[in-house]
Amino acid sequence: MMWLRSIRRPLSSLVLLQSRPPNYSSLSASAAAIESERCIREGPRNDWSRDEIKSIYDSPLLDLLFHGAQVHRHSHNFREVQQCTLLSIKTGGCSEDCSYCPQSSRYDTGLKAQKLMNEDAVLEAARKAKEAGSTRFCMGAAWRDTIGRKTNMNQITKYVKEIRDMGMEVCCTLGMLEKQQALELKKAGLTAYNHNLDTSREYYPNIITTRTYDERLETLKHVREAGINVCSGGIIGLGEAEEDRIGLLHTLATLPTHPESVPINALIAVKGTPLEDQKPVEIWDMIRMISTARITMPSAMVRLSAGRVRFSIPEQALCFLAGANSIFTGDKLLTTPNNDYDADQNMFKLLGLVPKAPNFSEDEKDSEDEKLEASV
Ligand code: SF4
Repeated sequence: MMWLRSIRRPLSSLVLLQSRPPNYSSLSASAAAIESERCIREGPRNDWSRDEIKSIYDSPLLDLLFHGAQVHRHSHNFREVQQCTLLSIKTGGCSEDCSYCPQSSRYDTGLKAQKLMNEDAVLEAARKAKEAGSTRFCMGAAWRDTIGRKTNMNQITKYVKEIRDMGMEVCCTLGMLEKQQALELKKAGLTAYNHNLDTSREYYPNIITTRTYDERLETLKHVREAGINVCSGGIIGLGEAEEDRIGLLHTLATLPTHPESVPINALIAVKGTPLEDQKPVEIWDMIRMISTARITMPSAMVRLSAGRVRFSIPEQALCFLAGANSIFTGDKLLTTPNNDYDADQNMFKLLGLVPKAPNFSEDEKDSEDEKLEASV
């Protein structure tokens, strides 16, 4: 693993790294510098204090960006960017009240509720996504949870199997999940399950009242226990304070195992939702979030997600430099607009980025476990 690779650093900083916790205020090096060097030397950790994450987040911006880039290069191939396609397979009519979401039935956004998409349409979309270079296909359904949806779930597990057979990673985001359903999705070959925490525990009740933060964490636990990769991140631009962004990262970075994917979304304010008048997120805020996520969860795929459509290529380049290594491609992100396919291809060429191949190492691990069990 690259953590063992030696790095060149001034002797003074080596001395500073001997004791923990450091008093950042008495040091000339920023928290981003100290923690990124520690991360490269010692690997990921899950015992972050909120103050430590705040100190990283508050480091001088260019220093934070530089050290996010350092960690990124030590833990990933910096040229590789994962391309995922997200399809809304069941749109609108959701009973939840997520203030940012045009799919909630509580808001008048002009979105028509639809039934679960049929097999042909879903598989056709997956094939097109693969042809366009996507290696992960994500299916989203606007549901509170999957309880009592046996017929739909049987249908979705079938989609999962068939898309896996196309040689793609498969992800679902279907609301809250019970343990048994997670196990069934795992059996069908699901690679990852997305369930975002959205924001900090403290700010969360301002955004959603129909389910609790703990219920969200419970779903992540079921997903993890079923052996499915966890995809969980949040949204900035909801009216939250800096402290809430730090709180979100702190919750994610102190989970017993870091999520394999951490999407960082910038709110796309949709007319008709309670957050319709929110100001667009500044690129500098995205960079702070991405770099801090990269330093605190070095192995995760950090995804530059919703809101990317508003950022120019130079702005996106800064996000990739800061540590983002995954994007959504395709015309739409569930129901909101996404970047143009040709524009993304040109950006990859211009920045020297290459698509990341799908990763089925979980399957290899599963079959090794099965072989071991059989031999025992
Ligand atoms: S974010 Fe998901 S759960 Fe919340 S209202 Fe939208 S579709 Fe429903």
